[in-house]
Amino acid sequence: MATYVWDFTQGDKDHKDLLGGKGANLAEMTRLGLPVPPGFTITTEACRAYMRTGAVPRELAVEVTTALRLMEDRLGRRFGDPDDPLLVSVRSGAKFSMPGMMETVLDVGLNDVTVHGLARFSGDERFAWDSYRRLCQMFGRTVLGIDGALFADALDAAKAARGVTSDVDLDAAALRELVGQFQEIVRAHTGRPFPQDPREQLDLAIVAVLGSWNTERARLYRRKERIPDDLGTAVNVVPMVFGNLGPTSGTGVAFTRDPATGKTGNYGDYLANAQGEDVVAGIRNTLSLDDLAERDPAAYADLRRAMRQLETHYRDLCDIEFTIERGKLWMLQTRVGKRTAPAAFRIATQLVDEHLITLDEALARVTGAQLSQLLFPQFAVDADRTLLARGMAASPGAAVGAAVFDSAAAQERAARGEDVVLVRRETNPDDLGGMIAAVGVLTARGGKTSHAAVVARGMGRTCVVGAEAVDIDAVARSFRVDGHVVREGDTVAIDGSTGEVFLGSVPVEPSPVSRYLDEGLDSALAQAPDDDTRELVSAVDRLLTHADQVRRLHVHANADTADDAARARRLGAQGVGLCRTEHQFLGERRVLVERVVLAADDDARQSALDALLPLQRADFTALLEAMDGLPTTIRLLDPPLHEFLPDLTELSVRVALAHERGQDVPDDERLLAAVQRMHEANPMLGLRGVRLGLVVPGLFALQIRAICEAVVERRAAGGDPHAEIMVPLVGSVQELRLVKDEARAIMAEVGAARGVELDLPVGVMIELPRAALTADRIAEEAAFFSFGTNDLTQTTWGFSRDDVEGAFFAQYTDNGVLTVSPFETIDARGVGRLVDIAVAEGRATNPSLSIGVCGEHGGDPESIRFFHGAGLDYVSCSPFRVPVARLEAGRAAVEDATVDAR
Ligand code: PEP
Ligand code: MG
Repeated sequence: MATYVWDFTQGDKDHKDLLGGKGANLAEMTRLGLPVPPGFTITTEACRAYMRTGAVPRELAVEVTTALRLMEDRLGRRFGDPDDPLLVSVRSGAKFSMPGMMETVLDVGLNDVTVHGLARFSGDERFAWDSYRRLCQMFGRTVLGIDGALFADALDAAKAARGVTSDVDLDAAALRELVGQFQEIVRAHTGRPFPQDPREQLDLAIVAVLGSWNTERARLYRRKERIPDDLGTAVNVVPMVFGNLGPTSGTGVAFTRDPATGKTGNYGDYLANAQGEDVVAGIRNTLSLDDLAERDPAAYADLRRAMRQLETHYRDLCDIEFTIERGKLWMLQTRVGKRTAPAAFRIATQLVDEHLITLDEALARVTGAQLSQLLFPQFAVDADRTLLARGMAASPGAAVGAAVFDSAAAQERAARGEDVVLVRRETNPDDLGGMIAAVGVLTARGGKTSHAAVVARGMGRTCVVGAEAVDIDAVARSFRVDGHVVREGDTVAIDGSTGEVFLGSVPVEPSPVSRYLDEGLDSALAQAPDDDTRELVSAVDRLLTHADQVRRLHVHANADTADDAARARRLGAQGVGLCRTEHQFLGERRVLVERVVLAADDDARQSALDALLPLQRADFTALLEAMDGLPTTIRLLDPPLHEFLPDLTELSVRVALAHERGQDVPDDERLLAAVQRMHEANPMLGLRGVRLGLVVPGLFALQIRAICEAVVERRAAGGDPHAEIMVPLVGSVQELRLVKDEARAIMAEVGAARGVELDLPVGVMIELPRAALTADRIAEEAAFFSFGTNDLTQTTWGFSRDDVEGAFFAQYTDNGVLTVSPFETIDARGVGRLVDIAVAEGRATNPSLSIGVCGEHGGDPESIRFFHGAGLDYVSCSPFRVPVARLEAGRAAVEDATVDAR
């Protein structure tokens, strides 16, 4: 088989890498015996060679000749024949659909001679000259790089001269004259006449389409869609068929099922006497396929047969582009059609019920991202609403609240129980408090990887970014948009799934699918408003249940409180993978920690620790009760010390002001000295995690004791607690040994005092490259590993998430250093390699070592597949992402099985 050119009879749908999506599916339809014009595909390999060397490979011309001759023989027409010319289209088509981003040239092969042949063949002189006019214009702009405005201006002038406003009102003579003018433009700008040799036209068009892989907009689109830059496009050379040869011709699009609901039937649009783009351009009103059945029953019957054949063959919803040329059906494109999230679930289970696919295949066809779209609350569809502006849909959901313009106001109002929407030009790490307090975040600037977008997604907070029409006056605490002024406290509503911003309140309701997850199938079905919703909820239930049956990864939740844990459990969590205990030390209890840290002597410290013990024990008892019977991993205190101490600047100002007034403030002075002593330039890399536990006496011991006592209490109450102790930020096995020795001693002491046996597992978080690289040694002491991929990402890249996301991630995505934030999706090459090393070496030491992940990546679909492949035992994620993780873990398992079976 040739390297660069494949005839449509040679390829198939599994060659998308080489033939692009369009080419592969045209080949597949040809194999199925469907009426596809007999064309050929120039492979992506040619494009890659072109990108490497700046020239097409020398063999290409020869291979094109062979394929072209075959095409001519099949059709009995010749390229460049003056009487009955063959014309071709030259179409781009990459592996992944990039709609409208690359170039296409139609009617290649027309020249001053063949235009007459086309007029004779079509019996329509106007049509022939219009086609030639279009070729000159498209070729001039796309292939020869001439400014398109020159052609457009000439066209406008021609219309003005004849007193008409529409292209279709130009007659053959006018179009012929226009062709002359267009050719003049070409001569003036290239110094050469418009190419008359059809083969030269074809070769130039091929190069132009190959080159269009790298246009600015194509690159931008790839970056946005995370399509690699080095794939290249294929080029399809297809004989032209004409849908605009009178009333028995036409062109249309069709779906084998409704892409919005999944219902089977005749979905599509048809336009008689029209060519390709006219259907989507909305120039004239289209007809339904039923109308086509009346106009041309024979062609319609052929189309229906082809649709059924395609759906049976692809075993999925297909979308189709077709043309009817004088009553003869031609299939110009097909592909497995895009669909909405609800339709994806419905179609997958419908196909199972029709015995077209297995449940495994159905599971592979829905995604975690689609499921999460179905989980967010939604604005009631039939509500009255006033649209104010549109931005980018950054983090889904529907949020209604009072507009506030800074973090402090957000927190203040939220503390009073008010729902607020934080409105900022853009956000930065200082806004975090406000973002947490708000039900939604709206920014006027920034894209999908802006600070606001990334952070909001991470928290599951509804967010709309880049609503440029929103003109914010932060000082006046208001924004202006389109004549409306919205002041602080006025109600706004934002839809993070559509990017819409509304004035006033719009009623919100939980989605039917989240109701199903929260309350169970029966309750959700009983409350569903219609059959479609019932079908959707059942479809989600079936696929999620199947995912649970096939997945190998367990799904745990990151939950700090009993309420969170209970919620996670309802959503299907099989344990708590991370309880961050620092949250239990903030608020009112912060002063107790302050006393521990600043204690003048052991007694003072002990009395502060004693005050904390019952509080911590109560936290853990409640958590273990909510997770009764399931593993509950409690992490010892992690954050930098300064988070528990007063703010250095505030304190310095307070002391300085007192001194100025001539006052002595000994307590504040002592505090200030301590805060200054502990101040760190890089707290993320400072005295935190296990280091803090080893340096501040009694702190970890208090927590371990509280855990042990909570376990004893739960057992006494008839419960089945499974607490596990997790040590953060370990870099050396010796750190773990020290904590473990302390833990053992406390377990023995508490056990002896209560007359019970306590042997709680003590494990580590792998959050530092050194921990991953010395995993063999750490595994000698650790009962389990849990990858803290948030910190592991920070420490592997050497950047702090809080600092860099707002500062330069947007630029790094623009210039291609990053395709996606490594805090969102695991950086498989770098951080992932450390994970692989630690898994292999940890298990070499201890084959039964339990290994999980509890960083944010544990809930990210792409990362979950990575962790499945890496052989982890579980992923742990925020409660609201648990269902998504269950689904994705199931998909990873069935896809793995498919690969194994090949
Ligand atoms: C982590 O680092 O991945 C982790 C879970 O810990 P935290 O996010 O609390 O630092
Ligand atoms: Mg961490």
